[in-house]
Amino acid sequence: MTLSQRQAEFTRLMTRLKAWAYQQPLIASGAMYFKTTWVKRSLEKQRALVAAGTSKTLGSSHLEELAEDLQLYWRGGEPIWSRKHYVWLGEEAERIGLKWGGRWKSISDPYHFQYAGQRRKK
Ligand SMILES: [Zn+2]
Repeated sequence: MTLSQRQAEFTRLMTRLKAWAYQQPLIASGAMYFKTTWVKRSLEKQRALVAAGTSKTLGSSHLEELAEDLQLYWRGGEPIWSRKHYVWLGEEAERIGLKWGGRWKSISDPYHFQYAGQRRKK
């Protein structure tokens, strides 16, 4: 698959995940909402995140637009940071074939969802 085809497959899976999420009680009731906070990231920005310790890799899937960060918020607009509030979303992401950053041991990144297929060899 070309990069463009993998991006298209990733877009399809994220759309499916988000459509499912809108039907879940926490979102459907308005108790929480979510938005995309990051898809594409430049290498320069990635270097800055590694330097700051908020990322451990210069090989982030965000560089190829094969990752998306979703931020949850409480009804009033307060961002939700605790991993436990993302488990329902992460488990569904994994069920449909995505990788979820909430499983990572190096840095817990529950906001991060990425394409799980084969990545381009460098
Ligand atoms: Zn991310």
